[in-house]
Amino acid sequence: MEQNDTVGGRDSAWREQLRGAMPAKERTAIPRVEMPQLDGAYRVTCNEEVNQGLRPEMAVTEASRCLDCPNPTCVEGCPVGIDIPGFIKNIQRGNIAGAYAVLRRTSALPAVCGRVCPQERQCESRCIYNKMKKAPVAIGYLERFAADSAREAGVPAGEMPQSNGKKVAVVGSGPCALSFAGDMAARGFEVDVFEALHEIGGVLKYGIPEFRLPNSVVDAELDGLRAAGVRFHTDTVVGKTLSYERLLEMGFDGLFVASGAGLPRFMGIPGENLIGVMSSNEYLTRINLMGAGRPGSDTPVPAARRVAVVGGGNTAMDSVRTARRMGAEKAFIVYRRGEEEMPARVEEIHHAKEEGVEFMTLANPVEYVGDKTGRVTAMRVQRMELDEPDASGRRSPVPVDGAIDTIEVDLVIVSVGVSPNPLVPDSIEGLEVTSRGTLAVDENLRTSLPLVYAGGDIVRGGATVILAMGDGRKAAASMAESLLK
Ligand SMILES: Cc1cc2nc3c(=O)[nH]c(=O)nc-3n(C[C@H](O)[C@H](O)[C@H](O)COP(=O)(O)OP(=O)(O)OC[C@H]3O[C@@H](n4cnc5c(N)ncnc54)[C@H](O)[C@@H]3O)c2cc1C
Repeated sequence: MEQNDTVGGRDSAWREQLRGAMPAKERTAIPRVEMPQLDGAYRVTCNEEVNQGLRPEMAVTEASRCLDCPNPTCVEGCPVGIDIPGFIKNIQRGNIAGAYAVLRRTSALPAVCGRVCPQERQCESRCIYNKMKKAPVAIGYLERFAADSAREAGVPAGEMPQSNGKKVAVVGSGPCALSFAGDMAARGFEVDVFEALHEIGGVLKYGIPEFRLPNSVVDAELDGLRAAGVRFHTDTVVGKTLSYERLLEMGFDGLFVASGAGLPRFMGIPGENLIGVMSSNEYLTRINLMGAGRPGSDTPVPAARRVAVVGGGNTAMDSVRTARRMGAEKAFIVYRRGEEEMPARVEEIHHAKEEGVEFMTLANPVEYVGDKTGRVTAMRVQRMELDEPDASGRRSPVPVDGAIDTIEVDLVIVSVGVSPNPLVPDSIEGLEVTSRGTLAVDENLRTSLPLVYAGGDIVRGGATVILAMGDGRKAAASMAESLLK
């Protein structure tokens, strides 16, 4: 059987056979699969992964719902352009290695994306089932199933390609950097990734908690990149311990900057300097990377009974759910708009509620109040109502006159957005930045300096894993073309 036939070719005989095996009417009558998950009360007592993954028979049934559309609009909704029907139909016929091969063609991190991508706003939102007013095919669950099953079956994740004699350096090791590194290695480039922290993975390791994305899953994807020849260097801060000039001296032909947006924003309200008011980044990094939750930790987070998390994105949900696991009796979200406007993934909001998290919407902190020792004890919250939609299309919140409540808290986690860290832009002369502090790039992700490209959150501000990965792919194609001509 030819390679194309094994893994995906649209007109292959087996695709024809699958199409004929069950009429579309029968397939569309199958209900969408439900993800098995741990019980909410149990999971706040531990850090075990909440979603347990589909069993093989569930995955095959779900895969048979996919109609293998002649013009698969779901693919247009995927920033890395995964051949979605191609991998799903391989699952349906029980060819896990084939499904995995299709995924790996365009994605370095399928097990990660299957867990954390906002599919409901991307591929699944474009599934033909939406037009029939039915639940879309569970593309994310199936992606996770294929990647996990391939790993468990020992299907190799990568192989060493033939060298083309050129080498490139990458700043940062988040999803953008990893996607770039995978694509460049596959084209025969030597790739060295320099990461400031002691762990590789960016937000996948320091931000997203293990109950959503276990480190072992990220590590397995990293092994695939190592097998393809990518070299990782930790504890290396480009612009401080390793300069741009030194990178040029080391003979790198190109540089890709994917240093993310790790600088937390605050609201500039009174009391933000009190003990017990901290950013999500600090809270999650201390717990995820520095063992703050373990007894005897050198860098503990304050033990807290009543924890308020300000914000409505994924970072806020991760923080509030972590606070529940750290023993908070009352952990609640404070968000200035309504629940429908929250940018967090729908599944995370749902899981947070199951875990006893409370939601205080249409509420905006205006001040934190402390005791004599400088420790936060309460927050003053302005009640809001929704007005006309703003530039983002979301209805803007406006204060309700005189409606201010005081709420007792002993820890506040601020999760109202992030900005790019200026270290890399400031340390490389001639690298242009925008008024938002992001790196300025053209449509091919080229910066103002020759052969320096950039992508992910350092270009977009805080965005998503899959958009960062899409940038990595685009920059790799563009840099490779320049270097190989
Ligand atoms: C808590 C949290 C939860 C999230 N949940 C989701 C989710 O569920 N789904 C989703 O799609 N998105 C989610 N996001 C957003 C998503 O993770 C980011 O958009 C994505 O990680 C950006 O990728 P990146 O590679 O550009 O940057 P990052 O992942 O931020 O990686 C940048 C890396 O560069 C390193 N670095 C910075 N400066 C230097 C330097 N000078 N030298 C060397 N290394 C440097 C940093 O240490 C970091 O490891 C979440 C974000 C957070 C914070």
